[in-house]
Amino acid sequence: MPHATVTSTVLGMTTSASLPTGSEAAISTGGSVTDRLVEANEQYAAAFTDPGMDARPVLHVAVVACMDARLDLHAALGLELGDCHTIRNAGGVVTDDVIRSLTISQRKLGTRSVVLIHHTGCGLEAITEDFRTDLEMEVGQRPAWAVESFRDVDQDVRQSMQRVRTSPFLLHTDDVRGFVFDVRTGLLREIDPAQPPVEPS
Ligand SMILES: [Zn+2]
Repeated sequence: MPHATVTSTVLGMTTSASLPTGSEAAISTGGSVTDRLVEANEQYAAAFTDPGMDARPVLHVAVVACMDARLDLHAALGLELGDCHTIRNAGGVVTDDVIRSLTISQRKLGTRSVVLIHHTGCGLEAITEDFRTDLEMEVGQRPAWAVESFRDVDQDVRQSMQRVRTSPFLLHTDDVRGFVFDVRTGLLREIDPAQPPVEPS
């Protein structure tokens, strides 16, 4: 119980000498968010001991996931420090840059399995490729990248699995599995790569 000395029942009244008890409380104490992160790091480093690992993930697995703040990959998958490579972006989309990371992960750092995790309520379901046009109208330049928005999360996972499996750069494409994480229950649901899209009714 490292914070047992905090006796106030009002979160916002905790002193700056105490570790924040929640993100909202921390922000209310003043200073930027980054200041809060740097403070947290000092606490982390004080308790940190060199695990003596090399850079090769212990479980030989790379996880590609959406950047969504509600998805705590290590907690949700029982992962510990050093276990895996974590590659995240908006949507957990398998872009050229994700293939770049996976290629280095497999060819230089020994991973063999790939796990793809998308999730319910993803922000990419709420926008369309019009986002690029809107950007162009605003700033006078059209982004080179696709938005990679989607309507059917299951199909989006299937497409991502397919992109990994068909990449010529990867050494290991036999163990590629895709999931949808439910942000309300915390449960993963595996997507069958072979299942065809549902026929329109
Ligand atoms: Zn998302």
